Parts: sequence; structure tokens; C-alpha cells
Amino acid sequence: MLSVIIPAYNEQENVPVAAERVSCLLSENMIDYEMIFVNDGSSDGTWEKICEQSAQNDRVKGICFSRNFGKESAIFAGLRYASGDACVLIDCDMQHPPETIIEMYNIWKNNDVDIVEGKKSSRGKENILYKGFSKLFYGLIKKASGLDMTAASDFKLIDRKAVDALNAMPERLTFFRAMSGWVGFKTEYVYFDVAERTAGESKWSLKSLFKYAVNSISSFTSAPLHAVTLCGVLTLLVALIMAVNTLYNKIVGNSLEGFTTVILLQLITSSIIMISLGIIGFYISKIYEEIKCRPRYIVREFKNIKGEEKK
Ligand code: UDP
Ligand code: MG
Repeated sequence: MLSVIIPAYNEQENVPVAAERVSCLLSENMIDYEMIFVNDGSSDGTWEKICEQSAQNDRVKGICFSRNFGKESAIFAGLRYASGDACVLIDCDMQHPPETIIEMYNIWKNNDVDIVEGKKSSRGKENILYKGFSKLFYGLIKKASGLDMTAASDFKLIDRKAVDALNAMPERLTFFRAMSGWVGFKTEYVYFDVAERTAGESKWSLKSLFKYAVNSISSFTSAPLHAVTLCGVLTLLVALIMAVNTLYNKIVGNSLEGFTTVILLQLITSSIIMISLGIIGFYISKIYEEIKCRPRYIVREFKNIKGEEKK
């Protein structure tokens, strides 16, 4: 069975459209499915629409949040309560073309792959500001963690094995796009064009995007912490060069009385402070890695090992 997970935040016009399109498509292709709408604390009639749909079709299920927790939380709630052999995540606004689900499903069914990731072959309509920020964001991620996610999206099919692995990650600040890569497994890609929104407008404000960017980067890499240590080392190098220079001036006799000491003290103490901060930062980053309690490794498959079905 395929679980289709659809996060919805203020999407009252889109819920019926999405339910209709996805259910038609899947029954046409004779795929056994369930559809899980996650209502992320919408302030409009989204939940009522979801209830309406589930009254008409018992394959439509709903999860309702107490408030807006963000798309990431909605995705993880969907994964937690999905019971399919594979889960597909798709946006409610149909910007991810549902036809691609069939393509993903066939790849998953006919090959030995665990994750089928949708990649944007074009980004669709976006304003210049959004384009600029997303470029900066992906640039930072790439620098910090080496992952190129420019074309990545949340549109993915994930096998049960990988879903269980994701469910086992206890961290609270999540970054689904990167985490689904982190768990590993065999990944295949399909390309899709971002469509226009069916109705309504994008739910991201500049503020929420900024928050998302900072959370994503900090939940996935501790590189900024190490930057402080690097600064400290650089200052120390400069300090050493300056020290030689000031001492030389002192010896030659063309320096003011007491000036040398001040310069040396300032240079050396500031670099020591920066390095110490960096070291503290390093330990904080370790604490931070540990506190996430991620599993140390994830096994994809067992053969002839007893007790493997035990979780
Ligand atoms: N979404 C959500 N919670 C939020 C913001 C968005 O569940 O706080 C959902 C939204 O309903 C949609 C998907 O995430 O199904 C993508 O949102 P949107 O279309 O606004 O983002 P964009 O396509 O502009 O990146
Ligand atoms: Mg959208």
C-alpha cells in the first residue's frame, strides 16, 4: 500500500482538488493507497474540507495539529502515522505534479530502490527576492555540509525501511530534505517541473523562510561554530607577524615608550580569547550532536540473522 502524505496549511480550496486528483490517479493505476492530510493549524476551513473528503472516501485520513507547527512537523507526523509500504510526500497546492507519483511508484516497485526523490527541473514562478534567498540558502548549505540541494524538494517516495529510520530520529529541529539524504539507502531521482499553485498563495513569509533557513542549517551542520576557531587561528597568525614587527621596531629604537607592550597584549589576548571561544563552541557542537540522539548506524537489510524483526 502507498501512503500519500499531504501537509496542508490554509488550503481549503486545494484540499478537494488534491484529494480528487490523487485518488483518481491512483485508482486508475490500480494502486492501493491511503491519503493522509495533515492540517497544520489552518485558520480557514481546511480541516472541514478534509473531514468532508474522508466522509466520502475512507482512504482519506486526516491529522489535525493544535496550531501551526510548520511543514516539517506536518511531514513527520504524516510519516509517523502512515501505514503504507511506502510513503509519498506531496504539496497540497499541486505544485508537485501528481502524475509523477506514478512514475515514482513504478521505479520503486520495479527496482531495488528505497527512496525516489523528485528533483525540480525548473523552479516555476518565483519572485526575485525568493530566488535570491534560495540561492544564498543552498549556497550556504553546500559550503557547510557539501550537499548540493539546489534542485531538491520535499516531493519524495520513501520506502517503509527509510520511513522507520526517519521515525527513529528523535531530534526536534528537523530538516526533512537533508535528513532523508542522511539516512542513506538507495536513492533514485525523477525530474519534474514545478507547476503553478492551484489556488491561494504561498504560505511562506520572509520571516518564516528566514527561520526555516537558520533552523535547517543549524540542525544539519555545526560548521558556523568552527568558523570562530578559524578566526582565532587567523588572528593569532597576524598577531605573530605584528609581534615580530613591533619587537623589531622596539629594538631598532623607533617605537614609543610602552606602546609595544600594549600592542602585544592586545593581539595575543584577543586571539587566545577567540580560540577558547572556538574550543567551547566545538564542545557545544559535540553536546549538540549527542543531544540529538541519532542512531549511530542504520541497517538496510538483514540476511539470516535471528531477531531482525525486533525493533
Ligand atoms: N505548509 C504547511 N505548513 C506551513 C506552511 C506550508 O503545512 O506552515 C504546506 C502547504 O499547505 C503546502 C506545502 O506546505 O501544501 C508547501 O507550501 P507552499 O506552497 O506555501 O510553499 P512553496 O510552494 O511556495 O514553497
Ligand atoms: Mg507551493
